[in-house]
This record gives sequence, structure tokens and C-alpha cells, in this order.
Amino acid sequence: MIDFHAHLDLYPDPHAVVDRCLANEVYVLSVTTTPSAWLGTKRLAAKAPRIRTALGLHPQVAHQRAHEMSLFKTLLADAPYVGEIGLDGSRDFKQHAEIQERVFKDILVECSSAGGRVLSIHSRGAAAKVLDFLEDYPRAGTPILHWFTGSAAQLQRAIALGCWFSVGPAMLSSVNGRALAAQMPTNRVLTETDGPFAKVDGKALEPSDARLAIPTLAGLWRVSVDTVTVQMSESLAALGALATRKSVVKALAS
Ligand code: MN
Repeated sequence: MIDFHAHLDLYPDPHAVVDRCLANEVYVLSVTTTPSAWLGTKRLAAKAPRIRTALGLHPQVAHQRAHEMSLFKTLLADAPYVGEIGLDGSRDFKQHAEIQERVFKDILVECSSAGGRVLSIHSRGAAAKVLDFLEDYPRAGTPILHWFTGSAAQLQRAIALGCWFSVGPAMLSSVNGRALAAQMPTNRVLTETDGPFAKVDGKALEPSDARLAIPTLAGLWRVSVDTVTVQMSESLAALGALATRKSVVKALAS
């Protein structure tokens, strides 16, 4: 089981969630929203070998946390995974577009000079702009667009740029979300929850709920549940190898 985008530190009882991830053997990309949250969130997973903690600066808090970019730069050397980062052009956040773009660009520049990272990216209401940035910084790493809500044409552009995708039960509960997922390359998709923000039937999703996405994806792709499960383990291993190789390259260079 794989949840490639969850906010473990934001659950009311993060330790209990981590315990359940351990019991259910869930592989988790534990994303963070601020650089100052990274070390504490990483500690949560100290005894959980299947959990990786990503260094992030969420676009919805970029205007309040831009000053944490210096901390981001310090921590990046030890962080093979970066997220949640990106842009948010939705109604409540578009007035901060300028500072969001400055922060996102700064992060992509840093990741490029660090040799590339595995990136979990938010692009709500800003798909075109996010893709422009990824095109400008091809060495920033391997982008995984989480809960992608762009158009079909933007999806094709993202695929051409080499993007991966993380898709969860909340995204697949909408007609648009299912239509997009149907067009994604099956070897570049991982399951996610975006818990505790994402809810299904009013209940916050937990990492093991990522499995709920598998039968829907199998149906959209007209393959068996087993085929999806095997493919996804291979994709996770491929990303893990990329992340490790990049930190190895970095270690050799320093
Ligand atoms: Mn998120």
C-alpha cells in the first residue's frame, strides 16, 4: 500500500496514525507545509522505515513563511524528497501569486543546483503556471503532480514534460478527476490520500485509505487490481532509486 502524499504531522494524533501505518505496512511520503516542521515530522517516522519525510513550503502559506527559505536551503542537502511545494491560484490565495511564484522558483533553483529531487507538487488553479516553471527548470528533479485538476490539454503537456502523478480517493470521487486519471501513463501514477485535508463521506482519509483508489484506477485503465498493485510497487521503487541516486550523487560531489 502506498500513500505518496499525506500530512502526517497535521492529524490530531500523529503518533497513532504512524502506528497504524506501521501495522498496515503503508509506504508514505509524509509531506510538510513549512521548513520548520520538517525535523519534527521526520522524527515522527524515526521507527517507520516505509515513511519518507519531504521538505516543503506550501503555496498557501508562502506569503507567511517566505522567510523560511533560508532554512529550506540549509535542510535541502539532507532531503531527497521535497514537498509540498507549488502554486495555488484559487480564490483565497491568488492575491499572493507573486510571492508564491518567487518561493516556488527559488525552490526549483535550489533543487536544480542540489542535483535534483523527487518533488510533490500542488497546482490547484495554477496548472499552466506550474508547468511553465517545470519547463524552465528541467533539472529540479522528478515532479509528481498531486491531485491534478488541470485541463486534458494541460495533462498532456505535463506528461510530455515527464511529470508523474499522485491520485487519491477524493480526486477519483469526481467525474473530472476520473477522466484525467484515465489518461495518465499507468507507469507514472502513485496512490495518495492528502489526508487529513482530503475527506471521503466527511471523514478525514488516513494513509491506508489510499488503497481505495486502486479498484477505480484498475477500472479506468481496464486492467486487473493485481496489475495496478504490481505496477505501483515498481513505480515506487523507481522513484526511490531516483531519490537515492540523487543523494548519492550529492554526497560524492560534496
Ligand atoms: Mn496536501
